[in-house]
Amino acid sequence: MTRFAEFHDKSLTQRDAFWAEQAQLIDWHTPPQQICDYSNPPFARWFAGGTTNLCHNAVDRHLAARGDQAALIAISTETDTERTYTFHELHAEVQRMAASLKALGVGKGDRVLIYMPMIAEAAFAMLACTRIGALHSVVFGGFASGSLASRIDDATPKVIVSADAGSRGGKGVPYKPLLDEAISLAQHKPSAVLLADRGLVAMNLVAGRDHLWADMRQKHLNDQMPCEWVDATHPSYTLYTSGTTGKPKGVQRDTGGYAVALAASMKHIFMGQPGETYFSTSDIGWVVGHSYIIYGPLIAGMATIMYEGLPTRPDAGIWWSLVEKYKVTVMFSAPTAVRVLKKQDPALLKKYDVSSLRALFLAGEPLDEPTARWISDSLGVPIIDNYWQTESGWPILTIANGIEKKDSKFGSPGIPMYGYNVKLVHESTGEELTGADEKGVVVIEGPTPPGFMQTVWQDDERFVKTYWQSVPGKMVYSTFDWGIRDKDGYFYILGRTDDVINVAGHRLGTREIEESISSHPNVAEVAVVGVADNLKGQVAMAFAVVKDTSGLTDDAARAKLEGEIMKVVDGQLGAVARPARVLFVTALPKTRSGKVLRRAIQAVSEGRDPGDLSTMDDPTPLTQIKGFFSA
Ligand code: ATP
Ligand code: MG
Repeated sequence: MTRFAEFHDKSLTQRDAFWAEQAQLIDWHTPPQQICDYSNPPFARWFAGGTTNLCHNAVDRHLAARGDQAALIAISTETDTERTYTFHELHAEVQRMAASLKALGVGKGDRVLIYMPMIAEAAFAMLACTRIGALHSVVFGGFASGSLASRIDDATPKVIVSADAGSRGGKGVPYKPLLDEAISLAQHKPSAVLLADRGLVAMNLVAGRDHLWADMRQKHLNDQMPCEWVDATHPSYTLYTSGTTGKPKGVQRDTGGYAVALAASMKHIFMGQPGETYFSTSDIGWVVGHSYIIYGPLIAGMATIMYEGLPTRPDAGIWWSLVEKYKVTVMFSAPTAVRVLKKQDPALLKKYDVSSLRALFLAGEPLDEPTARWISDSLGVPIIDNYWQTESGWPILTIANGIEKKDSKFGSPGIPMYGYNVKLVHESTGEELTGADEKGVVVIEGPTPPGFMQTVWQDDERFVKTYWQSVPGKMVYSTFDWGIRDKDGYFYILGRTDDVINVAGHRLGTREIEESISSHPNVAEVAVVGVADNLKGQVAMAFAVVKDTSGLTDDAARAKLEGEIMKVVDGQLGAVARPARVLFVTALPKTRSGKVLRRAIQAVSEGRDPGDLSTMDDPTPLTQIKGFFSA
């Protein structure tokens, strides 16, 4: 057995011993009494009886050894500001924020909703919450008042922390009026609102409710606010899924299990060393932002970059210039962002010295082979795909080079990580599929590892009903993703279970067809959906964004490219997978986290209502697609 296989095996067969060892990676106020309590499946209680604090592990723990080293590097190409906070400075700011929240009535177990742009104050607010045992509920700053109102009602926060505005492309995007509107729409009213004033947009303050951070900060400038030691199972936060397949689900996470899971992943998977710099291009509104902008890197004693701005402004070299300047060793981004860069001048990738970078991790959506190759060749750095979910909090499938150096396979996010008992099952019978190259649903047999969601916020029943299935003797969690495992044990994600299409009796993942289409040199991005068909049951319909549109001036040119693309699919997958049409669009409809909204594309392609679009970013692409079918 190889080293990783042994490591993985131990994590399942000697679960308690394995995780007791990982638990040493963090500070405990009192050590855990029990490692894994799985007496009430599917609820796994990790490290019960132990007390700890996330903020302590992220900040205070490092003061003695590296208090004067960089902890948080807040960079905005929107406001042209760059500020580095050392661990000492971060500690002071977080205490000021924690003292302010306390003064506004926030106590242990209370919720604080954070609706903020990517500015340092947002990090202070998150860390301040976990410091005092309050739960944060970060709502992505791009959401409009309706989505925000429903999240206010779900979280029922005592206090909301926000700002005057975000900024996009150099223009202020007001937050405060949206927040006011959301509060008036919501049933629940927070008792106070704490506002960072960036001076971007004028604000109307509501007397008695609204407080300025600058004032509160001044008032609590020298306050000491010790960490509240909470049980490992005390919830640290709630966070919504991206809403790609439907209405977003409210994920609740614990404290001790999460801290251990992140510390372990920083060591075994990301291989970040204390004193180095980590750069994740995500947003604190998403799980990657929680785990790998804020908590993971800080727990590991690394400096973390918080970046506000576009990947293409002032030009598409901006990220790599930051890698050079801050000697970033570990970087984390998403395939969707890489595809944006792919459309830009490739010379910008070569302009900077990125030799400090050990690896670029990508997650969030399937990473197609052409995109992976392109970025890997352009940067000259290993690309490590990793597959996980808001629910899991950290990677489910990837490679753990900290345990054993393994090669990635293009198109595969990797192998099951320690702690995860990943299986493939038949979608209707639930029977386990053990052979190579069999397609099935990716499931995790309980107990799920530390860091995994505890439950759906305030809805245990929904948690069990949504995710879990009982098979004799055990319970399994469904990822709702459709996958395949090759003979070497590497998994390939073929799409969401909802996205599997059935063409004349053949089961095809939309992902396979997308992968094939994107190998055409002029395709930048593509989405494939199944559309009802009288004859075949379903047919594949492709929507492609082309790189160079200059030749696509008339129907004949479009038909020619369409034919070329169909030929590529025929050659790679066979005629059965050939899309009925390849339609050319200027952009694909996406969630605000950058995921393709296939269910909405499919609905409008079939003339149906697209459903919950609260997390959709720009509505224009969906309108364009609708246009094809309304003629
Ligand atoms: P919702 O659950 O609300 O429909 P969502 O599933 O998009 O939204 P997230 O938790 O942000 O919400 O995303 C997790 C999903 O993203 C996974 O289930 C998978 O479908 C996809 N995904 C994430 N990383 C990868 C990856 N490396 N390769 C393929 N798919 C990935
Ligand atoms: Mg999901």
